[in-house]
Amino acid sequence: MDQKVNIVSRAQWGAAAPRKRETLKDCAQRVVIHHTALPICTGMKECVDRLVSIQRAHMTERRFDDIGYNFLVGEDGTVYEGRGWGVVGAHAKGHNHDSLGIAFMGNYNSDAPSTEELSAVKQLLQSGVSQGFLQPEFVLFGHRDLGSTQCPGDKLYAALPQLRGTA
Ligand SMILES: [Zn+2]
Repeated sequence: MDQKVNIVSRAQWGAAAPRKRETLKDCAQRVVIHHTALPICTGMKECVDRLVSIQRAHMTERRFDDIGYNFLVGEDGTVYEGRGWGVVGAHAKGHNHDSLGIAFMGNYNSDAPSTEELSAVKQLLQSGVSQGFLQPEFVLFGHRDLGSTQCPGDKLYAALPQLRGTA
């Protein structure tokens, strides 16, 4: 079922303009799941504060052109637009040009992902496929599958099979 995902836009959370923006050449073939490794945020106000500081850290300390991820999701299942659809991210070195990066906002070494955020991400992926931004046979990875990192945390990594497949 193609349920509508509610996405809080960049304008709605007050994102700063990107320094530059590179479009993906094709629809994304892969999805890379991350965690922010920060405390979870609950509710829009807290998550928006967190987003603003993540964007600032990515653009100043890490010198990215924008917040690194394409989308982020809060514990209550609200999805926040990062770079958005069809844009090259900065989230998995060497793998950014054919993938979509989604970050769960929290530290999933210790916390388990909520059913709300898992189902919101699943809907987001289905919506990406139906809009042609994501290949129907996309392959979903945890960041640790592609690089030397603990990301997205043991508990979220264990839940990734729930995000695979579009059944
Ligand atoms: Zn990561």
